[in-house]
Amino acid sequence: CGIVAYVGHQNCESILLSALSHLEYRGYDSAGMAFILKNQQLVRLRAKGNLFNLSDKLLKFQMMSSSPIHAQIGIAHTRWATHGEANEMNAHPHVDNEGRIAVVQNGIVHNYLAIKSRLSPKVKFESHTDTEVIAHLIAFYQNEKGLDITNAIRNTINDLEGDLALAILSVNAPNEIFVYSRNTPLIIGKCSDGYWCASDLVALNACEKYMRLPNDTLAKISAAKISAEKLARETQITEAKWEAEWE
Ligand code: GLU
Repeated sequence: CGIVAYVGHQNCESILLSALSHLEYRGYDSAGMAFILKNQQLVRLRAKGNLFNLSDKLLKFQMMSSSPIHAQIGIAHTRWATHGEANEMNAHPHVDNEGRIAVVQNGIVHNYLAIKSRLSPKVKFESHTDTEVIAHLIAFYQNEKGLDITNAIRNTINDLEGDLALAILSVNAPNEIFVYSRNTPLIIGKCSDGYWCASDLVALNACEKYMRLPNDTLAKISAAKISAEKLARETQITEAKWEAEWE
């Protein structure tokens, strides 16, 4: 029901949470976040119910860490369940079996059951959502087909049916977030210290410039720059020129 992502020079765990709180008006049943630590470990925290529960988990994680967390890249999500009941197991982000890829989604993957049976029994599914297949499919394209992370994401998106917005983190690209939207809004915000991406402008109040991610476009965002390409799903995936138009 709401996506937030950040990459830049600020420590982002707490600011992701406050950006998420701006999306509370959209309603949600659970929430979660994932970030990559300096040692390239991917951390995922999720909680059912109020954002307070997620913030409690973050606080406990911070207190249990031997050194202060300095994650400068992360994604977060508030969920309004469509597939799978509202509980922690079904809350986003969803990860692959190795815990190297984290995905948040707004929308519905209509063909998730077909993808699930394609990946079974090799893949162990831990949730009942339509979203989890995305993380496993990216891992499949990397591990079984030898694709790099960007191509694995391109191929995965090509296989997904339905309108959706995605934010993806991977330890294979620890300084980049991948965002994609198909008939579901995602706004990118440019700030002095990096980039934000969110489902709604209200979550991006720290930014100086904004633009809507064009439809069917995959953007790769680092602290320094955005590169993006239009995906032509029906035919072959083609690289297209894309110029950011800031407002
Ligand atoms: N269909 C997804 C789920 O049930 C995403 C729902 C949402 O947009 O929050 O997990």
